[in-house]
Amino acid sequence: MHDIETLDLDDLRGGLTRAAEMIADRIAHIADAPVVHPATHADIAAAIPPDLPEEGVGMEAALREVADHVAPFATRIGHPRFLAWITTSPAPAGTLGEMLCTGLNQAPLSFKGGPAATVLEEIVLGWFHRLLGFPEGAGGTIVSGGTMANLMGLTVARHAHFPEANTRGLHALGKPPVLYVSDQGHMSIERSASLLGLGSDNVRAIPSDAACRIIPEALRERIAADRREGFAPFCVVGQAGTVTAGAVDPLDTLADICAEEGLWLHVDAAYGGAALLTPHGRDLLRGIDRADSVCIDPHKWFFIPLECGCTLFRNRMQQTDTFRAKAAYLGQESPHDLKNTTFILSRANRALKVWFSFRTYGTARLARIIERNMAQATLFHDLCATSTEWEVLSPVALSIACARYVPCPASGEDAGATQGEAASPEARASTPPPGWTEADIDALQVAILRRLELSGEGFLTPAVVHGRAGIRICVANHRTTDDDIRLLFDLMTRFGRELFAAGPQGVRA
Ligand SMILES: *Cc1c(COP(=O)(O)O)cnc(C)c1O
Repeated sequence: MHDIETLDLDDLRGGLTRAAEMIADRIAHIADAPVVHPATHADIAAAIPPDLPEEGVGMEAALREVADHVAPFATRIGHPRFLAWITTSPAPAGTLGEMLCTGLNQAPLSFKGGPAATVLEEIVLGWFHRLLGFPEGAGGTIVSGGTMANLMGLTVARHAHFPEANTRGLHALGKPPVLYVSDQGHMSIERSASLLGLGSDNVRAIPSDAACRIIPEALRERIAADRREGFAPFCVVGQAGTVTAGAVDPLDTLADICAEEGLWLHVDAAYGGAALLTPHGRDLLRGIDRADSVCIDPHKWFFIPLECGCTLFRNRMQQTDTFRAKAAYLGQESPHDLKNTTFILSRANRALKVWFSFRTYGTARLARIIERNMAQATLFHDLCATSTEWEVLSPVALSIACARYVPCPASGEDAGATQGEAASPEARASTPPPGWTEADIDALQVAILRRLELSGEGFLTPAVVHGRAGIRICVANHRTTDDDIRLLFDLMTRFGRELFAAGPQGVRA
């Protein structure tokens, strides 16, 4: 017992048990309520006390408030028909790992702050090196997510090419540095360029082909033009799994271009990196082993709970040259200090949840789920491709499918009868039915998604592929069944028909 006041709780064990039960109940009943709760922001805000509590209510009461006013409104991200963004169903072993990470509360900025935590991070990074095919001497760091992982990759790229920028600033450079990514690039690339002082205008958006992959010839031409015009090309970002369509750039060709031109190759595999567990993925991502840096998000398709991202570097020395952190107060130096591997100092031991989840399940089990997810995206794609009411917007490379509901006049009554004589989906594309404009059809996609959300049966997000609006399904979910995919397709087709029958007025805002 203490003779001073501490923050210890009288019944910590009871509190932990209650919290664990709340989590276990949630996971056991993840599919038993609407995916997204229909409450408004005002509804929720009205129920949660906003005042700064001068006197606490105690653990019991606070737990009750979570049970009554927070948990009920929480989006069911592990629901088998939550297939929005690239926000994946967390693996329960990852949840356990996260709880242990918080409970053990290590501070692995230096080895002494988390000795086992440091070793775990090295082990997890080593696993990713093996997946990528990186050589001895590779490095990396575990961060909060893909945005941060891309920023870390581009920070080292900038330092490796323009070391003087760190001390003297970018204006010390004779020529403005430029980098390249396809027009499907993730917005974190532009954001990184702004943060790094490179300027988002100096991120060149290179055109992509019909399958949303960068066009290498266009990249070569742009690099040559930039050199002629006095810019300093230094980096190409390859996308291995674009956010919209899941497309994978030809990484081997990008690596060739970077080798010829002396450029840094960063690969954003935040989502697609997990496909390296499968033969199809290894084939698709061929050349990733030639990258200088790679972003992979464990909290995407590796099913680790938020937050967890990762940057891998081919050459650890380039990484530690960029991030070496020295200060007397940090104490004795060790070659394993993680403070020298990243921009931040205090950090959580995120490696623990990745390690715990991989140890629990093994990569073979994860690989089977990833392969199933790929097949399920193809199933959705095929349902759309063979329907007279849907137009597919992109091929399936990983586990994302995009399609546009384009009603045909007969589909309101009896779509089956039109199947025979109807034109192919490609031929019907871009011909809106009488009375409907292209903008109405665009709005119809959003209206279908809204109806789906309100039904509580599923949650998907919209997409625009080469200027055409549609709905997007991202199957990165270990609970989704083939029947869930068919149910979503049937429901959205029904909502599409009903909205179409009600006329364009109904979808106009
Ligand atoms: C998700 C994602 C990001 C950003 O990662 P966050 O973890 O959301 O910050 C970057 N690139 C790609 C390709 C992604 O899928």
